[in-house]
Amino acid sequence: MMKSQIGLFDVAVVGGGVVGCAVARRFALDGARVVLLEKAPDILAGASKANSALLHTGFDAPPGSLELACMQAGYREYIEIRDRMNLPLLETGAMVVAWSGEDLPRLNGIAEQARANGVDDVSLLDKAEVLRREPHLATSVRGALLVPGEHVIDPWSAPLAYLSQAVLNGAQALFNAEVLSGRLEDGVWLLDTPKGQLRAQTVINCAGLFGDILEERLLGGSSFTILPRKGQFVVFDKAAAALLRTIILPVPNDRTKGVVLARTIFGNVLVGPTAEEQIDRDRADVDQRTLRMLIAKATEMVPALADAPVTAIYAGLRPATERKEYRVTANLEKRWISVGGIRSTGLTASLGLARHVAELHRGFGDDKRAPLTDPLWPHMPNLAEHMARDWQADGHGEIVCHCELVTQREIEQALAGPLPAGDIGGLKRRTRAGMGRCQGFYCQARIAALTAGKLAEPLAVETSDE
Ligand SMILES: Cc1cc2nc3c(=O)[nH]c(=O)nc-3n(C[C@H](O)[C@H](O)[C@H](O)COP(=O)(O)OP(=O)(O)OC[C@H]3O[C@@H](n4cnc5c(N)ncnc54)[C@H](O)[C@@H]3O)c2cc1C
Repeated sequence: MMKSQIGLFDVAVVGGGVVGCAVARRFALDGARVVLLEKAPDILAGASKANSALLHTGFDAPPGSLELACMQAGYREYIEIRDRMNLPLLETGAMVVAWSGEDLPRLNGIAEQARANGVDDVSLLDKAEVLRREPHLATSVRGALLVPGEHVIDPWSAPLAYLSQAVLNGAQALFNAEVLSGRLEDGVWLLDTPKGQLRAQTVINCAGLFGDILEERLLGGSSFTILPRKGQFVVFDKAAAALLRTIILPVPNDRTKGVVLARTIFGNVLVGPTAEEQIDRDRADVDQRTLRMLIAKATEMVPALADAPVTAIYAGLRPATERKEYRVTANLEKRWISVGGIRSTGLTASLGLARHVAELHRGFGDDKRAPLTDPLWPHMPNLAEHMARDWQADGHGEIVCHCELVTQREIEQALAGPLPAGDIGGLKRRTRAGMGRCQGFYCQARIAALTAGKLAEPLAVETSDE
């Protein structure tokens, strides 16, 4: 059967994680004809669905690495554009905390590395100063390195804003559009998706946890292997936010930044992530033993958390590979750029990665299109607890989710516009409906009514015969 053909694009971005969204934005702003292809019904279906939401300075990144350069460029651009897009920033700073006599001297080395990485506002704090700043920390603390530039952001509004800006400026985003196969013919890629066949001059592989599989499907082999690394989290109730101001980081090791204790932009406190290798690329399960371990660790750091109720638990998968560094490669002959292995810093680095990819693409020598001189900017709905929310403004209809104070107007807006929520996960990430204390128990029926006929699958409402 002949499949329909959809246009010719300068670039096809495969994958709607944070990296793909940022890359699509960059190319759209540079004037290219862009299509983003995502296999799920909405963006952020993979690694970008669940992370710690920290905006990193790069103080502890490998010196001279692409990761460091992209994190710092991404950090700068986020700060530069966030007001125009109404994206929040919780200016917390971070402390790398030494809990043992062994950790204490290692803070000097971390401070040196931070300065070598251009993060020169770090300072060492003694025990008394740490406890003055964070009076609820356990008194076993020995000292800390203060990194004032580490902050907390909204991990879902940011990528949505990036892709929204791409779409507002002419890019197309296709969902349920998995790239299944493809071939390069006379310098143009023909990509087969369930939505039809697309033609694009360059493919940009941003398929995250499936980046190697996409290379195998289309190039016949892959330059890297994805080794998913799971991170589990526990989210404490909003009352716990009063116990903490700064992000609390451990002294890191080679494999992971370790377990973090931080406020979230939504007003909770989270502890996590773990670093657990697994085979499965789709499932990110939590388990009781690990969650108990995380709660115990959090309580060791801030003893008052022992009395804090847990609101939610979740896990995310990092697209790690056999090597620590990002796996970014450009192949002019194949008209292909892979942005693979964006392990554990992609939320921060995405805007910087997008600039790097655009630079690599310039090396392909395609016809130069003029960058947009006056691009359109999306204004994102705010979900951050420390800024004005929709329920505080007139005309919101009703409060649908009472735990997270989500309004009918917010839900209706999330189901409309150029990038409407495609599934219930997408709706939650756009509004926070059902993500609070009751986890949707009370608002599920109302949300099912408001979303009827609008999501990929109808929301199942649990009913009781009693
Ligand atoms: C536990 C954890 C904590 C983290 N903490 C932080 C943090 O605090 N700060 C920070 O900066 N970063 C953090 N990160 C890292 C960040 O989340 C990742 O680097 C980032 O999400 C990677 O995004 P991606 O776009 O490369 O991949 P993904 O999010 O996996 O996106 C790839 C997309 O491609 C789609 N796809 C795959 N194959 C195809 C195909 N054939 N056709 C069409 N679509 C396809 C998938 O459905 C998916 O949506 C953390 C990550 C984890 C897991």
